[in-house]
Amino acid sequence: MIKNPRPLDTERALSDEPEGTEYTCQVCRDAHFVHPLKGGGKTDYSRVVPCQCVREQMERERMQSLLKYCELPPGTEHMIFENFKVSPRLQEAYDLAVELAKDAGEISWLTLTSGASRGKTHLAVAICRRWLRKGRLARYAFVPLLLDELRRGFREEGDRSYEARFGRFLNVPLLVLDDLGAEHRTPWVQEKLDTIIDYRLMHDLRLVVTTNTPMAELPFRIASRLGRSPGSRVVFIDAPEFRKGKRSNGKVVTKEEA
Ligand SMILES: [Zn+2]
Repeated sequence: MIKNPRPLDTERALSDEPEGTEYTCQVCRDAHFVHPLKGGGKTDYSRVVPCQCVREQMERERMQSLLKYCELPPGTEHMIFENFKVSPRLQEAYDLAVELAKDAGEISWLTLTSGASRGKTHLAVAICRRWLRKGRLARYAFVPLLLDELRRGFREEGDRSYEARFGRFLNVPLLVLDDLGAEHRTPWVQEKLDTIIDYRLMHDLRLVVTTNTPMAELPFRIASRLGRSPGSRVVFIDAPEFRKGKRSNGKVVTKEEA
């Protein structure tokens, strides 16, 4: 951290600029570099370092590109842990989601299963957002659309080709598969999902799955991977349905509270 940096070439900046010039950054006067301070608090004129405005801008751009890559659905900006209303029946799912988002514990895969609108997507998106906030790459995928996205790759090349798209689902450090089981089951679809899940298991990559389908009704191979792999947890959320679209103070209100 550079404390009280001096603007680059202060003298020249003062004499060249007409009076009243407005700078976006008052610290470097838009020079984007500053002289750092030495140990004793004196300015080190022999060196220049990027101004904090440059570093902040780089950080914003990095966050934007991480967000773009993640492809979170629009309208999910409020889906963060801080806005999640934890009722006793959601406590376990919430705790495990927070634990996985830390990526420091023993949980590497989390499957949330329940009826529709029990807060699964909120938790899955919150894991992504926390992951992104730490500057890490994550990818959200609504399963029925994921497979369409892969198919679109057949007609494209390079970064948008099928191989590139599939490679990202395989390798991204955190993948969220939202609404597994809602996809149209064909042998091709099944093979793609099997491969993604097997590959991520083999390479110890984080996975979050939400499903409205009971585990016993998911394809056997997938259900057994989700249920029995080391570091994998499956939570059945036995909570009342969220009242859709009703929020107060940014918090989702459950029927339980009403
Ligand atoms: Zn600056």
